[in-house]
Amino acid sequence: MERILWWKRLQRGLMHLFFPECCVGCGAGLTEAETVLCLGCQLLLPETGYHAHTLNETGQRLAGRIPFVFATSFAYFVPDGLLQQLLHGLKYRNRKDIGRFLGTRFGHALQEAGVCVGVDYIVAVPLHPEKERIRGYNQSIIIAEAMGAVLGVPVLDGVLVRTRHTESQTQKTRAERAANMEAAFAVRHSQSLAGKHVLLVDDVLTTGATLEACAQALLGVPGLSISIGTIALAG
Ligand SMILES: [Zn+2]
Repeated sequence: MERILWWKRLQRGLMHLFFPECCVGCGAGLTEAETVLCLGCQLLLPETGYHAHTLNETGQRLAGRIPFVFATSFAYFVPDGLLQQLLHGLKYRNRKDIGRFLGTRFGHALQEAGVCVGVDYIVAVPLHPEKERIRGYNQSIIIAEAMGAVLGVPVLDGVLVRTRHTESQTQKTRAERAANMEAAFAVRHSQSLAGKHVLLVDDVLTTGATLEACAQALLGVPGLSISIGTIALAG
C-alpha cells in the first residue's frame, strides 16, 4: 500500500517537472500547492466579500424581480480582467479545473459568511442541450458541484431544464431579453423540491433575465424558496 502511494507521488512529481502547470493569470509555473492561479494572482481576484450583506449589489440587481432569501456573487467582472480570463478558459477552452477552482473558492467564501445554513439543494442554471452537446459540459454544473462539495449540500441535476433555445441576448433591451427568456425553463420531479431552499447557481450575472426566468419556473413548486449565487457580477 505504502509502496503504491510512494510510486504515485513520484509519478506526480515527475509529471510536474516535465509538464509544469502555468498560472492562468501571469503564466508563471505553479507550485504543487497551487491550482489555476498562483498565490499572487489569487490575491488580485476582485472578490466582492459582501455575501452576508442583505442589500448587496447582486441583491439590488434582482430585488423586486425574484423573491430571494439571499443573493450574492463571488467577484466583480472587470472587462479584460482576471475573472474574464478565467471564465473564458472555463467556457471555451475545456478548462473544467477553472470551474472547480472558482466553485471551491466561492463555496469557502459562502461558508465563512454563514449564509448557506438553511440551503437544502444547489441547482445550476442549465444550458440548452444542443449547446451543452457542443461544449461537452455545462460550466455552471461544474461550479455548483465544487460549491456543493465544500458546503456539504447536494447538487440536483436535471430538475431545472431548458425547454427551448433562446436567441442571442446581446443586442436586446432588458424588456426584450425578459420576453425572450419567458418560459424557457421548466421544472421536472418538482415533488423533490417542495418546501426546500434551493441555491440557484450561474457563472455570470448581467441583466438577471436568465435567473429571473429560472426562478419563475422554480417558484411554481409549492413552498420552495430561492437564493442566488453567481461567480461573477458583470457591470
Ligand atoms: Zn499568477
